[in-house]
Amino acid sequence: MADVVHYSYEHVHQTLADVARRMCADGLVFDCMVAIGSGGYIPSRILKTYLGCPIFSVTVAHYSDSIQGKAFREPKVIQWLSGDEKALRGKKALLVDEVDDTRSTLAFCAKRLLDGDGLASLSIAVLHNKMKEKSAELPAGIPYYAGDEIEDHWVVYPWEAVDISDHIQKCRN
Ligand code: 5GP
Repeated sequence: MADVVHYSYEHVHQTLADVARRMCADGLVFDCMVAIGSGGYIPSRILKTYLGCPIFSVTVAHYSDSIQGKAFREPKVIQWLSGDEKALRGKKALLVDEVDDTRSTLAFCAKRLLDGDGLASLSIAVLHNKMKEKSAELPAGIPYYAGDEIEDHWVVYPWEAVDISDHIQKCRN
């Protein structure tokens, strides 16, 4: 089995269209999305075509560190809602990222949004969820939608390609 999997723009778009359809079928309505940069930018823009709501953004990075020889990853905020945390007050928001790997990023962002931003509700949508043991838990009761459940491989998305023609040739989907 391949260690690296390439996905096409068409797969990304179709998968997100399906996520949007499922959320709508479940009666979810959103006032806005919060894209986690940078992987959540293009997925949230595609979802906007179906959901029709504006996109806010946050950016977090991960820092590897070591305590007693044990490695861990900790999300660190680079940018949060452009400093305007009141922008989301009373809103039904959808948090969007491209891939749920260890889940630390989604859990960190979801908790921070619920703690500080006065949301009416929060849901989560990701393009892919890696089927693996997660290192963080999402706050209870949050609707969670993944386009596909995938193996724990490294995923290369089309927007990361240096040579998009080569990327397309490598896509199985
Ligand atoms: P987490 O481990 O917190 O769930 O994922 C953190 C971030 O790492 C994701 O938002 C994503 O940007 C990046 N990431 C994790 N796994 C992959 C992968 O397989 N491919 C790519 N391109 N990014 C990944």
